[in-house]
Amino acid sequence: MIADDTPLADIAIIPASLHKPLERLELRTVNDLLTHYPRRHEDRTQFDRFPSGETEMPVCVRGVITKTALKRFGGNRKMFDATFEEIEAGALSSPLILRWYNMHYIQKLIAVGQTVIVYGRTRLRGRNLCIEHPEFEIADEGETAGENLNMNRIVPIYPATEGITQRILRRVVFDVLSDTKRMETPLPEELIDSSRLEALKAIHFPNSLEQLETARRHLVLTEFFGIQLIVAQRRARTLSASGAPHCGPGKLLDGFLANLPFPPTGAQKRAIAEIRRDLASDHPMNRLLQGDVGSGKTLVALSAMLLAVESGCQAALMAPTQILAEQHYLNFCRLLEPLGISVALRTGARKEESGGSIMGSSRVSRDESGAPALFVEYPNDLPEAISYSRRSLPHFERPWAKYAISFSTRNRRKLTPEARDIVLDCLIHWKDKRYELYAACVMPDHVHLLIEPFVKDRNDKGDPVFYSIAEILHTIKSLTAHQINKLERMTGSVWQEESFDRLVRSERDLQEKYHYIVQNPWESDVVTSEEGYQWVWFPGCEKAVARAATSSASRRLQQASGLPSPARSHAVSAQILIGTHALLYDSAQNDLPGLGLVVIDEQHKFGVLQRAKLISRNPAPDVLVMTATPIPRTLTLTAYGDLDVSILDELPPGRGRIRTELRENGKLRDPDKFKEYLASGRQAYIVCPVIDESETKEVKAAAVEFEKWSKFLAPLKCELLHGRIAPDEKDAIMRRFRDGKTNVLVATTVIEVGIDVPNATVMIIENAEKFGLAQLHQLRGRIGRGSNTSYCILLAGTADETALEKLRVLARTSDGFEIAEADLELRGPGDILGTAQSGFPPLKIGNILRDGDLMRLAREAASRIVSADPKLSAPENQRFRLFSVESSHKLLSHVS
Ligand code: ADP
Ligand code: MG
Repeated sequence: MIADDTPLADIAIIPASLHKPLERLELRTVNDLLTHYPRRHEDRTQFDRFPSGETEMPVCVRGVITKTALKRFGGNRKMFDATFEEIEAGALSSPLILRWYNMHYIQKLIAVGQTVIVYGRTRLRGRNLCIEHPEFEIADEGETAGENLNMNRIVPIYPATEGITQRILRRVVFDVLSDTKRMETPLPEELIDSSRLEALKAIHFPNSLEQLETARRHLVLTEFFGIQLIVAQRRARTLSASGAPHCGPGKLLDGFLANLPFPPTGAQKRAIAEIRRDLASDHPMNRLLQGDVGSGKTLVALSAMLLAVESGCQAALMAPTQILAEQHYLNFCRLLEPLGISVALRTGARKEESGGSIMGSSRVSRDESGAPALFVEYPNDLPEAISYSRRSLPHFERPWAKYAISFSTRNRRKLTPEARDIVLDCLIHWKDKRYELYAACVMPDHVHLLIEPFVKDRNDKGDPVFYSIAEILHTIKSLTAHQINKLERMTGSVWQEESFDRLVRSERDLQEKYHYIVQNPWESDVVTSEEGYQWVWFPGCEKAVARAATSSASRRLQQASGLPSPARSHAVSAQILIGTHALLYDSAQNDLPGLGLVVIDEQHKFGVLQRAKLISRNPAPDVLVMTATPIPRTLTLTAYGDLDVSILDELPPGRGRIRTELRENGKLRDPDKFKEYLASGRQAYIVCPVIDESETKEVKAAAVEFEKWSKFLAPLKCELLHGRIAPDEKDAIMRRFRDGKTNVLVATTVIEVGIDVPNATVMIIENAEKFGLAQLHQLRGRIGRGSNTSYCILLAGTADETALEKLRVLARTSDGFEIAEADLELRGPGDILGTAQSGFPPLKIGNILRDGDLMRLAREAASRIVSADPKLSAPENQRFRLFSVESSHKLLSHVS
């Protein structure tokens, strides 16, 4: 008997000649074949009439070929035209031309006299009404015995069937379906009472369109139910994980709230109460806090952290980028220091602690032995999908990537001691600006260094873009070459163009590279073990000290003590810890035994698996995930379905309206009026997609726009802000803007986060089409913060209709959820669901946007079943358990 998992190769009725082609379509088992769902159906009981003009939607027509012709066009290229006429007697329609370009094999398939079924859109080409590259099927071709599957019925049209015709596939599916007598239906009766087998028969060969719809509903529910069983079980596991209550009595929070200049909104109060209940329970919290830009999520996070801290544990906040982490850090310090709460910052770039012991940003935190801070072990259970080649940057999947780099002088040119000084100075100069430096050694004719590149900017999707190794080295080489040549009164290249970089793969790898670099002069016998060498640098070895050391023995001793000891690292004693997402993988988490609450800000880059890892700690911390990008409701049921959800659906009071206008011609309506408006005291942002024109010629660059606007708006003051500006400078620029000393900030997307200037009431976005919808929405959230009406002007740099359509969404609505749904619709759900990140296989039949109500039904059924029987061990639940196992296998095979 045929079962779901019977290999197609074992089924006698399938001719052996089809095994290969089926395999190519990845159809291996009966289930694969039967869930190879039709892409669409054609109702061949009644065809459309021949249209008389261009059609918006494809038509399905039947006719006869009356003439064919192979023609040349544009030199050597060929097109094949077939004249196609309606059969129906007395039809007054004019013929259509079926046209194929450069597909010579078509002429072998189509001949005069054939009856053909054609599907496609008609287009006027000259005086002819054409269908170009139509889908077609020859109606009277080689009909086999048995039921006619291709005519006079609703016929399935399958997705790409390379190497196998639609007809043969129909026959195989039909035969397998007819031979299948029984099939388990994995849906509970309460959800649907039809059988799976009937549904499969009807999805392939429906008797009516109603039957087709019912079948589809059954199969979509099945697909969603499989997902929801996994979600429900994930949830059940979280609930049964051992956690601990992390909730203080609330005095601290009450005091904090009482001293705020404003009362929390109703939505904030609700969210805080929900979180408080979770914190107090001994199950680990796993909650999503959703709220539009400006809805005040930070306050909720802070309240949660205060409750946790009051109970005596530590709380951590993880931000997706360094800039955002710093922003939170400054904010938290300001708010919490008066309460006597200690806050620490830990990102790749800076490690600071508040409360008197602020460490300079140029220093790396060290363990007791003075070793460089914490190496991050790459989590070994991340999906393979996140693999990348050693050289491929940006490496934002792994922002904490470290590299060991070496480069040599050209022709082994010897660097004088002065030249070596120049090089080492330069390496140290860029430290904390473009990279974190872990070790460096300038040898007489080559250089070694161990670095971790920093975030340079964000791309138009909002992902961080890192300084590339090439970029970093280029700067170092050209700057030093210039200085060295000047010093030595020489010209020509100092450095070999080529350099070698290796990605550091593990803690051990790091230790080895580190030792290798700091001991290189001695190991390579450039100096004897009795001598010192001044051009070695590592954290804690201040250059001055290294150079002053004359006694070689003491010098080496000092070095020996500076070597990192593998297992130990720096324990953080602060009550609140703020860092980037890398913090999670940090060895730091091992020195945070008191970690009770983790807040993850902007979870988009943070998948289910990472969250699972966090919760798998024992005891599990409470987890609060925050997102400012509203997640469409359908997705909160799936990709985030294992989370409880709190929603901030209320903006703090006193916010002015934002009017958004799309300028399709890419120009301001009246620049002079804009100037006047600014002169009256308001401020504006002008946002550009890139920093330099050299990056891409087609889009407006901040640096260039800055020049233009400065001139035009003078004497009003403009400033330029982008990710390449050093942090201190950036702070100063922001401060001047906040204090009203600057009228206009010309910027890249760095202003997407963290700036809160109520007097800034205009935002002009250049080449708005270059940004994602969600990102534009975020950007726009920077205005409308005061009580006055604000204006967001989107300048389009394209006439592309799809792009303009996208921008019109923003002009139409400011509802984050609506925008998120539109975004999802435009990008296609495949982007979000069905990635390794979301932890679900791609959907075969369901549409996460349109079938939201079915998803809800499936979810309710699955959670009812799982909450009554979390392990699905009851006899009557066996079919669900099997189905869930099967579904997660699909998931696993997808992820790997
Ligand atoms: P987001 O949800 O985008 O992270 P923030 O937490 O940054 O929003 O809050 C946006 C602004 O609103 C901040 O300036 C914050 O101080 C202010 N804010 C937050 N809650 C309230 C409130 N209840 N009443 C008035 N202003 C508030
Ligand atoms: Mg925020």
